[in-house]
Amino acid sequence: MQTSTVLGVNVHAINSAEALRIIEEFILSGTPHIVVTADASAVVMAQSDPDLMEIINTADLVTPDGAGILWAARRLGTPLAERVSGVDLVQALCERGAETGHKPFLLGAAPGIAEEAAYALEQQYPGLKIAGTHHGFFTPEESDALVRKIRECKPDMLFVAMGQPRQEKWIRQYMEAMGVPVSMGVGGTFDVLSGRVKRAPVWMQRSGLEWIYRLARNPRKIDKCSTLPVFVMKVLAAGRK
Ligand code: UDP
Repeated sequence: MQTSTVLGVNVHAINSAEALRIIEEFILSGTPHIVVTADASAVVMAQSDPDLMEIINTADLVTPDGAGILWAARRLGTPLAERVSGVDLVQALCERGAETGHKPFLLGAAPGIAEEAAYALEQQYPGLKIAGTHHGFFTPEESDALVRKIRECKPDMLFVAMGQPRQEKWIRQYMEAMGVPVSMGVGGTFDVLSGRVKRAPVWMQRSGLEWIYRLARNPRKIDKCSTLPVFVMKVLAAGRK
């Protein structure tokens, strides 16, 4: 796979259809894989978090998530095809799962939200079976029991919605023990699927303005958005070297 390197983070130059095909190959292989969706804030986080950098750069698939990454890759002379976000991948995989019988387990978000997201997905994709659900507010001591529960449910894919970098670190630590063929961090996806959080209008998503919409609806996201100027400055500086 071709990659673009943005501030030391390797991102695969794939489109949504290719991502879907690659993830289905991971499922069929039966052995554990990790998929990361990398946005500008993950790249900034990785600059001061060597563990996160290592997890992303050894992941089986890293998708470009967001206008920031696409802009940076273009600017650095290694353009990427298109944005492949966690929400879009979850929906595409569930649509395919309704045909193939591949089952997801939904882990993360506040108590009750993963169940609501599971119900919404089953309504949207008739035939889809959800292997199981669990909220994302558990203690480190509870992880082993949760890993056992996930193993017993025998999912083909595990979507972990606990925010970056917690979700990626948790997956890396337990992926071999869980034995799920594909695990992927999906951030706030269950809040969106459950209908609790509205996604930006498509024109805003397409024009790279989804972050403004999210910030306006949830001002607590200011921390995450404040990494954007840092990202832009670092990319501009890297482009001059
Ligand atoms: N969350 C969780 N456990 C935690 C902290 C957060 O399950 O200990 C959930 C939170 O409820 C939300 C998601 O993780 O559903 C994070 O969403 P956010 O949009 O902040 O993630 P990002 O896409 O920014 O990584």
